[in-house]
Amino acid sequence: MKVKFICPECQSNTLEEVMSDVFGYATITDIDNDKTLNDAYLDYGIVTHEGGSVNYYACAHCNFEPPVSSPQELYNWLKENNMLEK
Ligand SMILES: [Zn+2]
Repeated sequence: MKVKFICPECQSNTLEEVMSDVFGYATITDIDNDKTLNDAYLDYGIVTHEGGSVNYYACAHCNFEPPVSSPQELYNWLKENNMLEK
C-alpha cells in the first residue's frame, strides 16, 4: 500500500526510516578542488546502503516520531491516521 504520510506537527509528507550501523555506498560523479580551503570535495550520484538496524521512524522535516517501534506498529499507526492509500 502506498504511504500518504502527513506529519501531524509540520504537514510535511516525507517519512523516513532512521537506521544505525549501516554500510553506506555512494557513487562519485564529480570532484572539485577548493584552493582556499586546500581541500577537495565530492559530488555523489546513487546512494545505497546495506546491513544495519532500524532505530526509529521520523518525519524528514521536523523529526516528529510516530509512537511505534516495528513495521507492523507503523502500519497500524498509518492506517489509524488515514495515511495509507486504499
Ligand atoms: Zn514534521
